[in-house]
Amino acid sequence: DRGAVAALDWKKMDGLLPATVQDRGSRRVLMTGYMNRAALEATIATREVTFWSRSKARLWKKGETSGNILSGADVYCDCDGDALLVLATPAGPVCHEGTASCFAAAPHAGPGWLADLARIIAARGRVAGSESYTARLLAAGPQRIAQKVGEEGVELALAGAAGTAAECVSEAADLLYHVAVLLEARNIGWDDVVHELQIRHAKKSQSK
Ligand code: AMP
Ligand code: ZN
Ligand code: ZN
Ligand code: ZN
Repeated sequence: DRGAVAALDWKKMDGLLPATVQDRGSRRVLMTGYMNRAALEATIATREVTFWSRSKARLWKKGETSGNILSGADVYCDCDGDALLVLATPAGPVCHEGTASCFAAAPHAGPGWLADLARIIAARGRVAGSESYTARLLAAGPQRIAQKVGEEGVELALAGAAGTAAECVSEAADLLYHVAVLLEARNIGWDDVVHELQIRHAKKSQSK
């Protein structure tokens, strides 16, 4: 809100605050730019990330020429109001060099990658008549996908009980992939599942 914008430490860096953008799904860091007050207000109003370009010396909506906008932005300030964090969803590669993130060299893994996988799976589903395994699975429908989830669940159970660690990894990957396809087929996001886990955790902490 306006009060919160005014309370930020605009004096420290010539009216500019560093703003780091994270992918809302995977929480991967995508890029860092600078926002002046007008850029921040434009970002909040349109929910499309807008920076102050120091080289162009004007407001710069990320993706204004490439089309790779950052939408659905939510902005958070740090403890002492001199840095911003933005959660947003990229329409395409964020870096002008063509990579998904400007920090392409930084290792990008962890469970957050499941959100990227979900996007890849959704994209496969949109290609009609594609020969990809994912596309065929999605075309076959929830019954077939659920059957695969059941099979892979049993395989992971067997590996978990008596298999090697490598077999557990492989079967867990099989299961998570098929769960991801099932979620896509049922139009459910990982965020919904994680949210449910968090709600359960919160209930548990209260009852203690
Ligand atoms: P765009 O905002 O994606 O339409 O890109 C417009 C111009 O902004 C590009 O030609 C680059 O000069 C610059 N640019 C785009 N993305 C980035 C980025 N992630 N970091 C720095 N400069 C960028
Ligand atoms: Zn700070
Ligand atoms: Zn870049
Ligand atoms: Zn398997």
